[in-house]
Amino acid sequence: MRRLGREVFDRLVEPIVGGIFTADPKTLSMAATLPQFLNMERTSGGLIRGYLRSKQEDAAAAARRASGARYEQFMAPRDGMSAWIDGLAKHLPANSVSLNCRVVGLARERQAGDSSWMITTDQGSPQPFDGVILATPASVTARLLQSVAPEAAAMVSEIPYASSAVVAMIVNRADIGARMDGFGVVVPSNQGRAALAISYSSNKYPGRTPEGEVLLRVFLGGALRPEVVDWSDTDLQRTAVNEVRDILAWKGSQPNWQAVIRWKNAMPQYLVGHVAKIQRLRQQLDGLPSLQLCGAAYEGVGIPQCVRGAKQAVERLCHSWKLGEDN
Ligand SMILES: Cc1cc2nc3c(=O)[nH]c(=O)nc-3n(C[C@H](O)[C@H](O)[C@H](O)COP(=O)(O)OP(=O)(O)OC[C@H]3O[C@@H](n4cnc5c(N)ncnc54)[C@H](O)[C@@H]3O)c2cc1C
Repeated sequence: MRRLGREVFDRLVEPIVGGIFTADPKTLSMAATLPQFLNMERTSGGLIRGYLRSKQEDAAAAARRASGARYEQFMAPRDGMSAWIDGLAKHLPANSVSLNCRVVGLARERQAGDSSWMITTDQGSPQPFDGVILATPASVTARLLQSVAPEAAAMVSEIPYASSAVVAMIVNRADIGARMDGFGVVVPSNQGRAALAISYSSNKYPGRTPEGEVLLRVFLGGALRPEVVDWSDTDLQRTAVNEVRDILAWKGSQPNWQAVIRWKNAMPQYLVGHVAKIQRLRQQLDGLPSLQLCGAAYEGVGIPQCVRGAKQAVERLCHSWKLGEDN
């Protein structure tokens, strides 16, 4: 807002942040959610100059990539996200994963300079482990840290989450009056609409619908409307259908298919001060290198950032084993 004014905030920044982070942009940390904008300001002296420079760099990077692997902007496993987890599981030794059990307790046991961890699940007695990576949502992580690192637990417990509901629907392309040449729309909150965003999933990921149909995902709720996630399926579907009718000029009577998915407390909200808080949190846990945290609560909510965070947690854990012991 400081650089480009109120209108750019209302019509560009707010809908992107609201649509992607299901958040209230007035409380969010720019450094944590959209660090590329701060970076542009720092390195290029302004957002427009920074944008122009990044376009030049993109073109140069595209030229460099031309002889190597090219990735599209959006990617998803053809058979859905679970295919990814199933693929990972296939590479693990038999019986190395316990499914459908909740970790309910974490304790530290010191043994002659070494330290091991005792993990209790809701299905059995405590078991020892050399290292622990907590990849659970912040509220669970805070509970598990309580007895081993209470100050870190307090910091993690302060990270709030927002809820949203997604109504997925398949409609006939011919019934939509709006242009559909992008990947979706994000809706400024000053429009007073219920939808945060409508994603054109079949444009992002080919093969999701038969020819002539489109798969839309309508995002409702978020930090500014926390009550919406508890609406009935009927109310959510009716609202989503009305939004698609108004925003995309849809003329059909009923979608060909619909489903409601509720994401309760699923999106961490990086409030102002988040980056500094996570730095302090990591420092707090420096003394326990065989205990690592990763997941959407800390350094990025997107799946690529979560994967990067998980790799870094594994590297830090392996490094601690190389060094031999916790302090
Ligand atoms: C509606 C929506 C749309 C999104 N769209 C995109 C997108 O298009 N692209 C993108 O990159 N990102 C997207 N995201 C963000 C991204 O999906 C999430 O931030 C990311 O999946 C979070 O991963 P995670 O591993 O941190 O958490 P989770 O996936 O929530 O994993 C936490 C795991 O901990 C387990 N768990 C909880 N308690 C316990 C316990 N006591 N013991 C053992 N296990 C426990 C849970 O069962 C769960 O499996 C979206 C998020 C939402 C909500």
